[in-house]
Amino acid sequence: MFFDSHAHLTSSQLFENVEEILIRAQAAGIDAIVNICTDPLSLERGLLLSQKHPWIYQAAATTPHDVEKEGEEAFDPIATAARQGHLAAVGETGLDYHYEYSNRQIQKHFLRRYLQLALECQLPVIIHCREAFNDLFQILDEEYRVGGKLGPGVLHCFTGTMTEAEELIARGWFISMSGIVTFKKSVELQEVARAIPLDQLLIETDAPYLAPQTKRGKTNEPAYVAETAAFIAALKQVPVETVAAATAANARLLFKIDKINNKTR
Ligand SMILES: [Zn+2]
Repeated sequence: MFFDSHAHLTSSQLFENVEEILIRAQAAGIDAIVNICTDPLSLERGLLLSQKHPWIYQAAATTPHDVEKEGEEAFDPIATAARQGHLAAVGETGLDYHYEYSNRQIQKHFLRRYLQLALECQLPVIIHCREAFNDLFQILDEEYRVGGKLGPGVLHCFTGTMTEAEELIARGWFISMSGIVTFKKSVELQEVARAIPLDQLLIETDAPYLAPQTKRGKTNEPAYVAETAAFIAALKQVPVETVAAATAANARLLFKIDKINNKTR
């Protein structure tokens, strides 16, 4: 069974067909998904989705792309959901200096606020980072300490360098691989995937984006996480079941899945 640690099921692109998407996911052996809510509407849909399908878990934050426009008004509803115990994680938050759709100072401001929220609610964080690892590590070290060490989190859809991956591994974090690792040109990233210890690896689709190699150009969905798992298993020269079991166990540990009961919320 596979755990898709990052999908946008309640985004405008997927939500219309979400029931069929979940049926295909279950048929492909996916038995848990963390749904990433990025605004109040996708959060509201996400909370209802968890009630109906208790194997879907929720995370929420405004993405670094959108914080300049939407960050302020979305923060309170997201913080309320976190404080009421409806979330498995805070995120995706972080820094994106590649696209830089939002001003860097505003991105840093919201990253700090979301890290503080995660600490307050004892939740892990899901971090998006592109071309901003120096600032990310500095802010994490300043803002996100639990008992003398870095708080729990995952760097999702990792596309950084081996050195950046090694820093995350040394800090005890999880690194999540998306379909990008299956692309033919992702030679360096494949080296990184080979090097990440199985007990610090997660897998994700980031659906609707980034469908893996054989589905490129299509709308991505959780069922396709199996292809990414199989690809990583081949890289690591282990059975796909080993990658599936390790990444699912890691996700359950990080998101404290066994303590969450969606039915009683
Ligand atoms: Zn995402």
